[in-house]
Amino acid sequence: MAMKHFRGRAEGPGGMSAPVAVVVDVGGTRVRAALAGPDGTPTGRVVRPTDRTSPERFLAGLEEVIRAVLAGAPRTVAARLPVIVGCTGPIGPGGSLVDPPNLDPSFRDLPLGAALGERLRRPVVVGLDTHLALLGEQQAGALRGRSDGIYLTVSTGVGGAILSGGRLLRGARSMSGELGHLPVAARGPRCGCGGQGHLEAVVAGPALGRSVMRRADREVGGALALRIRALGRIPDGSDVALWASEGDPDATAVLRRARGALAVAVTALVSLLDPEVVVLGGGVVLGSPEAWTAACREHIRRHGLAAHRESVEVTAAVLGDDAGLYGGVAYARMMDALEPVTEG
Ligand SMILES: [Zn+2]
Repeated sequence: MAMKHFRGRAEGPGGMSAPVAVVVDVGGTRVRAALAGPDGTPTGRVVRPTDRTSPERFLAGLEEVIRAVLAGAPRTVAARLPVIVGCTGPIGPGGSLVDPPNLDPSFRDLPLGAALGERLRRPVVVGLDTHLALLGEQQAGALRGRSDGIYLTVSTGVGGAILSGGRLLRGARSMSGELGHLPVAARGPRCGCGGQGHLEAVVAGPALGRSVMRRADREVGGALALRIRALGRIPDGSDVALWASEGDPDATAVLRRARGALAVAVTALVSLLDPEVVVLGGGVVLGSPEAWTAACREHIRRHGLAAHRESVEVTAAVLGDDAGLYGGVAYARMMDALEPVTEG
């Protein structure tokens, strides 16, 4: 799938580098896509809700977003721009969704890369969203200039990626860094993957919501139960964070437990991987980043190895939802799906 026609540095209007790809970040609720320049910088973003009602509508939705982005590309290059897609894994050969954990079973083995390539008549590269996000943070964010780091994102799920010796650690199946499924509590709650006590089952947004529901059930008619009834739906991570900020003791306790679980996992990862920096991202963390980074720092200081106690930085991701868009081009280069840009 190597592309031979991106040698040289084409200049677009205004001296801007011409785009070299369309990058797409497929989230659980939104699809974000943009043109990407040779250094990965995204422009012309288009955002749409993710249509998860059926595989066919999901693919049609992605095609529509990508065509909307292509409409903003210079006509001289639009016809041959490759597409780089980041989505949750695991991802099989040819960019298929092996067993997407938070999607309907009909999505199993959906040949995402091949099907999109057919619809768009161009090469499509599919990678793990967290791998693209780590490369984005390395390109333009919290991992810039770093050679060893851990990226961990907590939102509707928990994912991660590892930078080791300046390179993304890919793993044998290009799926290293599934940090959401690290066991953190032998008798903890069931995880969406079927396991028990995994990090994701304790700290992801839906897990926080389920935790406050369980606490509310213990005191029917209590303050927490009344909050949930007023909400009229199952609370999510942002509801729990809001209630904690308003002083609700149960919401505060749920968040403290989640931060504690994340801190245990991060300290274990630090011992395993010896990073310079741990970068925390995702909506759950970025709602109150200092509380989450401080919990991890404190746990490393108390329970980490002496060499790590004062030296490992724990910091918040800086690119937010854009991280995967910034990392797409670097990912495609790593997979030899884009020619390196040559000077002159
Ligand atoms: Zn799991």
